[in-house]
Amino acid sequence: MPTLDKKKSAAASAKSKLKKVLGNVAKITAKDGVKIKNAAKNGVANGVRAAGKAVAKAAGKAATAVKAAAGKRVYFFGGGKAEGNKEMKNLLGGKGANLAEMANIGLPVPPGFTITTEVCTEFYANGKKLPKQLDADLRANIARMEKQVGAKFGDPSNPLLVSVRSGARASMPGMMDTILNLGLNDSTAAGLAEKSGNERFAYDSYRRFIAMYGDVVLGLKPEKKEDHDPFDEILAAKKKARGVKLDSDLPADALKELVTEFKQEIKSRLGIEFPTDPYEQLAGAIKAVFQSWQNDRANLYRRLNNIPVEWGTAVNVQAMVFGNKGADSATGVCFTRDPASGENEFYGEFLVNAQGEDVVAGIRTPQKIEELGKVLPVAYKELLDIRKKLEKHYKDMQDIEFTIENGKLYMLQCRNGKRTGFAGVRIAVEMVEEKLIPKEEALRRVEPEALNQLLRPVFLPSAKKAAVEEGRLLAKGLPAGPGAATGKVVFFADEAEALAAKGETNLILCRHETSPEDIRGMNASLGFMTAFGGMTSHAALVARQMGKVCIVGCDALSFDYHARVMRVTTAKGEVTIKEGDWISIDGFAGEVIQGRVETTPSEVIRVLIEKNLDPKEAPVYQTYAKLMTWADGARKLRVRANADQPDQAIASVAFGAEGIGLCRTEHMFFGEDKIGPMREMIVAENEADRRKALDKLLPLQREDFRGIFKAMAGRPVTIRTLDPPLHEFLPHDEAGVKDLAAATGKTVEEIHACIEELKESNPMLGHRGCRLGITYPEITEMQARAIFEAAVDLAEEGEKVYPEIMIPLVGIKKELDLQADLVRKTAAAVFAERGKKVSYTVGTMIEVPRAAMTAGEIAQTAEFFSFGTNDLTQTTYGLSRDDVPRVLAAYLQHDIYPGDPFVSIDRKGVGGLMKMAVAAGRAEKPKLKIGICGEHGGDPSSVEFCHEIGLDYVSCSPYRLPIARLAAAQAALKAT
Ligand code: ADP
Ligand code: MG
Ligand code: MG
Repeated sequence: MPTLDKKKSAAASAKSKLKKVLGNVAKITAKDGVKIKNAAKNGVANGVRAAGKAVAKAAGKAATAVKAAAGKRVYFFGGGKAEGNKEMKNLLGGKGANLAEMANIGLPVPPGFTITTEVCTEFYANGKKLPKQLDADLRANIARMEKQVGAKFGDPSNPLLVSVRSGARASMPGMMDTILNLGLNDSTAAGLAEKSGNERFAYDSYRRFIAMYGDVVLGLKPEKKEDHDPFDEILAAKKKARGVKLDSDLPADALKELVTEFKQEIKSRLGIEFPTDPYEQLAGAIKAVFQSWQNDRANLYRRLNNIPVEWGTAVNVQAMVFGNKGADSATGVCFTRDPASGENEFYGEFLVNAQGEDVVAGIRTPQKIEELGKVLPVAYKELLDIRKKLEKHYKDMQDIEFTIENGKLYMLQCRNGKRTGFAGVRIAVEMVEEKLIPKEEALRRVEPEALNQLLRPVFLPSAKKAAVEEGRLLAKGLPAGPGAATGKVVFFADEAEALAAKGETNLILCRHETSPEDIRGMNASLGFMTAFGGMTSHAALVARQMGKVCIVGCDALSFDYHARVMRVTTAKGEVTIKEGDWISIDGFAGEVIQGRVETTPSEVIRVLIEKNLDPKEAPVYQTYAKLMTWADGARKLRVRANADQPDQAIASVAFGAEGIGLCRTEHMFFGEDKIGPMREMIVAENEADRRKALDKLLPLQREDFRGIFKAMAGRPVTIRTLDPPLHEFLPHDEAGVKDLAAATGKTVEEIHACIEELKESNPMLGHRGCRLGITYPEITEMQARAIFEAAVDLAEEGEKVYPEIMIPLVGIKKELDLQADLVRKTAAAVFAERGKKVSYTVGTMIEVPRAAMTAGEIAQTAEFFSFGTNDLTQTTYGLSRDDVPRVLAAYLQHDIYPGDPFVSIDRKGVGGLMKMAVAAGRAEKPKLKIGICGEHGGDPSSVEFCHEIGLDYVSCSPYRLPIARLAAAQAALKAT
């Protein structure tokens, strides 16, 4: 033990030294890094193996970091080849790596270059300054672009324009900012107009550039939440003045005026002139992209998605192609398969005479991709070919961004497309059937949490039909996030967040459009809908990712944020919906319904649980079932359910449970007829009275066990003896007190005195768990008798049963000894009375640190262990689960907790205790069966951890079983 500690602390101090070295990374050379690495290797020779290894690894990283930092900052792509490729996401970001890859496989990509993520790190290490050497790289690579495009950056007669785009390792849609048409100023704009012979196009590009640059680089944003974007307001005023509806209807002279007005707005608000030098513009834009890596919304997105801040973002500078050059130009976004349903059907949207941002931001509602075949058939055909080529190459559904300039198609982005849980399962399964990917890959790909969606409710068909007949169907939009949600209308994201924090769970966020600033409020809502935007708008993307119900592009809606109402234009006139009114949204059909609509279970639930749908008529169920079968073939961990009642046991089996890992006997006492005798037992003043009450409970509890054993048909059933403190069962209201007094022949005062006496100042640490069974052995005895009588009854009927009796909250071997002895004596008595035996085991929960520390001793008595990680987390942290919300926000903000420790196992602390207990338990009994029955058993990351430390099974609530099965398969695949 002490040597291990020494090694660890040696490694820790070496690591912390290296951290300092790494901090100074810019100052040292690659050679130094190698030196450190070698020095560390010598440390191994000195016998400090573990420390040496850690140092060597860290130093190796330092050496590569230094090498890269000292090396190439910029990677070029274009003209059919690239310096990067799709494997280089860490260095080039996802977008840069895929732009390079698309260039490499011969797709039409406008030339450009990627500034690496390491330059971003350098930028922050440098006090937010671009490294000096970057300037030469920029000029050299711009020159390469100029050559390929045949235009010159800043040349008034033939200007090269570029886009400046962010791109992190993991895609962060809409989180970072993009600037288009950079390189324009008064003279290059005039030149562009002249050269293209299209003045409208030139000034449309210019006004867009000023607005984007003003927003992203100069930071000109709306001042109050009720305000619109300042440039949007000027634009809206201009459209009104000119009597046009759409941006694309504004004539050239109006756009020219906009340029002047935008520049004026910047001057009057910020007191600065708009920069005219293209290289100054470029440097400003690059800096802004780097800075956006640490803005509020990016920080939040990263936290929600576990992306470390150290990763940094790359910047892509790319020659512009123009979708806003007229009727033969367009821009669009598509998915190689339907991202909502997963159907193998080309899916997307485009806008004629527009720039990419228009489709993404939902400024105009776009056209469906099939229509491109009619509008620009040559480009459409090429796009269809590219769709096939990309899927074959990437072997996954791709999300594509493209632009058509004067009939010629250009690819601007591709990446693995975000998808709903439905689509994720369907695409993975169908790609296996198409022989595009192996089964293992399908299993790796589906996000376990996504399976939740397949179990989500839909509207009850009759209720929805009735709502429609009552005339409550208000409007239709695009179905962007499947599912059914019914809730109260809220108009502002921050208010949704605040309401949710107060416990309001049924919220529907309704907005004209959403933007990345709204992400917290979206997370807090059941669903959301927007008036504008298409299937690829911000709201739609976020919905698919968060698994929320969502409708977009519902153009019958109009908003008055000041008055806090939403107006809906319907066939019968206008309907006004106020804040707080109930509304229902159908994310499958895109329908908005006034008031509440009752929901009903999903296809999978109907087939498996309600058994009122034929699997043959349930395509969603079928793909689900295939995936689950593959998962079961791959996983090593067994899965069990936490189930307390026969009906839950039946559901568990349907969801794939191989046993019950936790049957909480106390839940039975809240059932009909049972709470009365339970209370009588508690208020009894002596053992004889207690036994009288327990005698009434015995047959009731026996019935419950019988039902559960029967449902589980011989699968193991772990039954925990009584756990919660007794006060939880006593009445909380005066009527209940009176009833109890009447039933027991006591006075109301006596009952009150009893309640008072049982009150505990800290019930979580109080008179509960095995402490109850030790104080009142007759309780454990009754429970054991109920279990064994039920088991023998069924065995006599020829059924298989396998009970495992589990003693809670044990911290000392003697506690378990006493309880196990009692259970075994009771078993022997029942078997003797009945002349029949069943096999069973007695084990314990490991849920207090002392049990983990003395697990070896405890294993002398215990025939199995089950980690109660809820209590183990509470007692390890010294923090009760109910009090977590009070500290969680601050602890997450300061990065004290990486996440809620009651959701994912804290691998270091709680997990460390678990590892100790597994090692000590199995040292005593090599085949000791060990499982987990805390809520963590249904959390994918915790399931992975349980696999890693060699548990036999995880147990979780029935509805999380599909998630646990897939997560267990993924853990097993990861290990191979
Ligand atoms: P995001 O990461 O938010 O998707 P992008 O960097 O992809 O942002 O840029 C947004 C939009 O700008 C894209 O949809 C694309 O159509 C358009 N765009 C970016 N670069 C260019 C370019 N070089 N030429 C034309 N349009 C571009
Ligand atoms: Mg994009
Ligand atoms: Mg517990």
